[in-house]
Amino acid sequence: MNICVIGAGYVGLTTAAVLAELGHEVNCIDQDKHKIEMLNNGEVPIYEPGLKELIYKNYNYLTFAESLDGYIKRASVVIICVGTPSWEDGSTNLCYINSVIDDLSSRINSYKTIITKSTVPPGTNEWIYTKLLEKGVPPHLFNVVSNPEFLREGSAIHDMFHADKIVIGLRPDDQQSLSVVQEMYSGISSPYIVTSLNGAEMIKYASNAFLATKISFINEIARICEAFHVDVSDVAKGLGLDPRIGPQFLQAGLGYGGSCFPKDIKSLEQTALSKNIQPHILRAVQTVNDTQIDIYIRKLRLTLDDLPNRKIAVLGIAFKPNTDDTRYSPAERFIRELSESGCIIHAYDPKAKLDDHHRPNVIQKTTVNEAIHEADCVFIATDWEEFKQLNWSEVKQLMKGTIIFDARNCLNREKVEQCGLHYIGVGRG
Ligand code: NAD
Repeated sequence: MNICVIGAGYVGLTTAAVLAELGHEVNCIDQDKHKIEMLNNGEVPIYEPGLKELIYKNYNYLTFAESLDGYIKRASVVIICVGTPSWEDGSTNLCYINSVIDDLSSRINSYKTIITKSTVPPGTNEWIYTKLLEKGVPPHLFNVVSNPEFLREGSAIHDMFHADKIVIGLRPDDQQSLSVVQEMYSGISSPYIVTSLNGAEMIKYASNAFLATKISFINEIARICEAFHVDVSDVAKGLGLDPRIGPQFLQAGLGYGGSCFPKDIKSLEQTALSKNIQPHILRAVQTVNDTQIDIYIRKLRLTLDDLPNRKIAVLGIAFKPNTDDTRYSPAERFIRELSESGCIIHAYDPKAKLDDHHRPNVIQKTTVNEAIHEADCVFIATDWEEFKQLNWSEVKQLMKGTIIFDARNCLNREKVEQCGLHYIGVGRG
C-alpha cells in the first residue's frame, strides 16, 4: 500500500517505520522543516529505542517531506498523527487537526481512507468527516476511520508490533474501511475491537483515565501507608496479585506526566462537563497528581535543614525512562519547583535535556558522577535502569551528604543502606 503519515512525532515516526517494515511505501509529512531536514539527512529527531535502526533498515520505503504535494496522489491511506494539545481550560485544541483537514481537502482527487491516530475527543472523527464534505470533498472519495494509538514511549515499536488490541471506529455505513485497515496491519496479529467512531475515541480516553487513576490511587495509598509506617511496595504487591486488579501501574512515585495522561484526563473532564456530567473521579485523580510533588519538596525540606545552601543531585529529567520526552515531566516540574528554594541543583538524564527556561542554580551535568559529586542529597526523579544499577559505595564516596531520596521506589533499599546511606522512598514508612 502507499500510505501518507501526517506528523513525524513519537506516534507518526513509529507508525511510519513499522508500516514500512510491514512492506508498505510510506511518506511521512511534517510541517516542521527542521525535523524533515534531519530525517532526510539520516538523523532521527527523537529518542525512542530501536526507532533509528528501523528507519535506517527501511529507508528505501520511507520518504520525508514538508508537504503532501507529490505524495497524496498515490496514497490510498492517510494516517493523521499530529499533536492534540490542551487549551487553557483543558479542552482539546484541534488546530493541528484542522490544518490537516485544510491540507487534505484541496488535494483529494482519488479515494482515500483517512485514519485518525491522534487522540481526539468523542465526536471529532465525525466532525472531520463533515468538515471534509463541507470543504467540497465528494463523499465517494473518502472515508474516515478512528484508530487510536496505545503505544508507550520507551517501548513504542514493540507495542505497535505486539499491540494488545487494534481499536477501529467506523462510520455506520462504512463497508470498506475495515478491510483496508486489516490489509495495512497484516503481519500484526493483534485482536481487533471494531466499534463506532465515538466508541473508538472513548476507548482511548477511558484507557488513559483508568491508568492515571491507578497511579493516583496508589499515590494516595502511599500517603496513608507513610502515616502508619507501612511499606506501600508490600501493599502494591498484595493488591497486584489479585487478578481483578493486576500489578501494573501500582508503583507509588512522583505522579503521572508525559504528553498524554495530563492532557487526556483534562480533555475527558471537559468532554463530560460539556454534557453536564460531573467528572468526580477524574477531578480527584488530578488533585492527587497535582499535589504529589509538593509532598516530596516538603519532605526534602524536613530532611535537609538549610535547603537553600544545599546541593541536590536530581537524577532524571524525562517523564519516564527510555525516552527523551520531557513534556509534563514530573521530574522537570520537581526541578523547577525545587529550584525556587535557591538550592543548587545538578540534574542528569541519559537522554533528556532541560529546557532553556531553568534558573541559574540549575545545571545539567553530562554524567551521573558529575551530578552526584559533593551532593548533599541524591534524588531519583525518573527510574532509568542506569540509576538502579548505581554502585552505592562509589556514590557515597562522591557525595558530601548521605541522603538518597528514591521518589520512584525503584532502588533496592537494603543495598543502599548497606553502604551507609540514608534511604527515603515514597510511602515506605
Ligand atoms: P508530537 O508532538 O511528537 O508530534 C506531532 C507532530 O505533528 C509534530 O512533529 C508536528 O510538527 C506535526 N504537525 C502538526 N501539525 C501538522 C500539520 N498540519 N501537518 C504536518 N505535520 C504537523 O506528538 P505525538 O507524541 O506523536 O502525539 C501525536 C498524537 O498521538 C497526539 O494526539 C497524542 O495524544 C497521541 N498519542 C501519543 C502517544 C505518545 O506516547 N506520544 C501515544 C498515544 C497517542
